[in-house]
Amino acid sequence: MTTTTPPGLAAAGLEARAVHTARAYSATDPHGFHRRHDSPEEWNRWARRARVTRTIATALQVPTDDVLVTDDPHRTYRTRTGEVPGDLITITDPLTGRAWRFIPDFTTPGEGWLLLDRCPDCEAEIPATRIATLADLGEYLDPDGDIWPADEARDEALHRPGCAFAVPTITTPGDQP
Ligand SMILES: [Zn+2]
Repeated sequence: MTTTTPPGLAAAGLEARAVHTARAYSATDPHGFHRRHDSPEEWNRWARRARVTRTIATALQVPTDDVLVTDDPHRTYRTRTGEVPGDLITITDPLTGRAWRFIPDFTTPGEGWLLLDRCPDCEAEIPATRIATLADLGEYLDPDGDIWPADEARDEALHRPGCAFAVPTITTPGDQP
């Protein structure tokens, strides 16, 4: 999402900025935005995602306007009330237009995320590495940095057949092969 406040609005009052932001949300996440009042559960999800936005924006030192949290089209999670769509967090760099995508890291709920990136071998999208700070992202991107793939990154089910980066899923006794 590129809702970064245009120069003319930078000094604008709260009203003008609020209307601008509402229109930007409506344009970039119409589904989530327009159904947020449909039920207490929808409003709860909306408010929770607002907190996710603030948290990751602070961690990665970007404006909240650059962050969009929407339904994850590929991942659902089990809750007491059934399966719910996961959070897909998209951060768009207003300078380059490049989008970075993250999913929650349930080993550090609300404090860390998994960066989605392409597998270095088969190019499938994988949760590549754990990110809690700008430094984590920096080390991942730095050609001289150390690479710390997340355990989840090597899940064979995410990769194309024959990928050298994937590790076969460990089956426990009793599992079907
Ligand atoms: Zn792969």
